[in-house]
Amino acid sequence: MNWISNYVRPKINSLFSRREVPENLWTKCPECGTMLFHRELSDNLNVCTSCDHHMAISPRDRFRALFDGGIFTEIKVPEPVADPLHFKDQKKYPERLKGAQKATGEKEAMLVAEGEMGRTPIVAVAQDFSFMAGSMGMYVGNAMISAAERAVKLKRPMILFSAAGGARMQEGILSLMQMPRTTVAVQMLREARLPYIVVLTHPTTGGVTASYAMLGDVQLSEPNALICFAGPRVIEQTIREKLPEGFQRAEYLLDHGMLDRVTHRKSLRDELITIVRMLTGQPPAVKGDLPAPSEAAPMAEGQQAEAPKAPAPKA
Ligand SMILES: [Zn+2]
Repeated sequence: MNWISNYVRPKINSLFSRREVPENLWTKCPECGTMLFHRELSDNLNVCTSCDHHMAISPRDRFRALFDGGIFTEIKVPEPVADPLHFKDQKKYPERLKGAQKATGEKEAMLVAEGEMGRTPIVAVAQDFSFMAGSMGMYVGNAMISAAERAVKLKRPMILFSAAGGARMQEGILSLMQMPRTTVAVQMLREARLPYIVVLTHPTTGGVTASYAMLGDVQLSEPNALICFAGPRVIEQTIREKLPEGFQRAEYLLDHGMLDRVTHRKSLRDELITIVRMLTGQPPAVKGDLPAPSEAAPMAEGQQAEAPKAPAPKA
């Protein structure tokens, strides 16, 4: 028995786990079923190359794509009280948290950073749906407040990428209190006359939709994102009526005036740069790299036409 459990079983397991590795290099698009190579997929910002379906993207990957050269500085978020209700369902809350931390490599469901996007300084916040469904707990509330405080201090606009299943049940009423808290954070930006731009990503639901994710000066969304307070299934069961097609999806909400724009993930960065620069009265962004300073100097002074002529009389 010992020989079987100590030697044979691990051997068999290792054989099977070895076979899983190449499979992890491929992701199946949930929309069209195409197998996508992981590098190709991440180069395309997790958008399916064959059907344009927008898959989830981690806040860190999003920031790498958003900020110039992928460089950003994380903003520290004050640690809230851990497990104040000593909550337990099938698992204890701290165990669930640890599991999510291990699975995502992140500390919590929200990442806050400052940096430049097209040489435009901003503060950005991104929510992580893979971390306990991006649920809004005290940490997320603290993150929104830290981000807003930092934006006010640096006089920078703030951009939010939302994704959430709603409030974090394990924190009970304390998670619901984050709705007014984050609303106050957004108000701080308003009072400082700084733009607050929201990019809704799939899915943004519940208490998050009922607070900071709907308070943007400009409301953008990624295509086909589900954006709602109560989900379509719950509504259908309650009113016992069939809902219209595309109900609560980004395009439907755009048609009904709840959003300003639905933007493809690949055009999002350029569009955010344009919006931020327009709202803060900055000139349009310079596309591409600037020429080297030595070449740029005569052009800037308007000597461009004279410079080539100078050696001519000598000859
Ligand atoms: Zn696809």
